[in-house]
Amino acid sequence: MNSKSIKPRNPKYSFFAGLAVAMLSGGCFADGAAHWGYEGKVGPSNWGALEKEFAACKVGQMQAPIDIPSKAATPATAPITTKYKASAGEIINNGHTIQVALADGGSALLGGVDYKILQFHFHTPAEEKIDGKGFPFNAHLVHKSADGKLAVIGILFNEGSENKSIKDIFANLPAKEGKVALKTNFDAASMLPSSLAYYSYAGSLTTPPCSEGVSFYILKTPVELSKDQLNAFKKIFKMNARPIQPLNGRKITQGS
Ligand SMILES: [Zn+2]
Repeated sequence: MNSKSIKPRNPKYSFFAGLAVAMLSGGCFADGAAHWGYEGKVGPSNWGALEKEFAACKVGQMQAPIDIPSKAATPATAPITTKYKASAGEIINNGHTIQVALADGGSALLGGVDYKILQFHFHTPAEEKIDGKGFPFNAHLVHKSADGKLAVIGILFNEGSENKSIKDIFANLPAKEGKVALKTNFDAASMLPSSLAYYSYAGSLTTPPCSEGVSFYILKTPVELSKDQLNAFKKIFKMNARPIQPLNGRKITQGS
């Protein structure tokens, strides 16, 4: 049988069939990214073998997340200061998490360097642990400096009261891959706990390609979200946390 023998009676049908194929390939291979996930053959223990570009996931020695040994933390000199501002943005379901991309959300001073906030996204359960203690949820606020370095502020969430800061975002979570515009401008400062005391360590992206050179600032003070909010996220992403990675002698610092 060759293609000439296929004559769809209904031209509308062939249009939608073609569209479906285009959407499938677009979903799996958009921007050339390989398929990876959090379970089975494409899960974290195999990330390093899925693509040459993902090698750091396997051979990297400064990988994130870690279980922070609080007693080993030595004092850091600089506190975190933030200069966040309300910004327009998009809520994106990228197939691995919900990410909020901010157009012009301001910056944070981390280790004395100014980093512009690009986006924040969520993990359940929380990726980082502190002294073996886990949390049900976390936000990673991703920043970039003028010379291209990445720094992440981690906010840990306990289950408790409804989180007002993320309420509008959670009312519009895209259930499928895709994006929607933020209905109201978002100020990242509204998500921060009362204290910016932190543990800091040198890590990596916690998703493929697991690139190193990412500075982490994990805030010591957790915030809360409600069970309903946690469940709304889990309905879309049941589990999207990379397991704890070896410390390999890395130094932990802490600041207030
Ligand atoms: Zn993250």
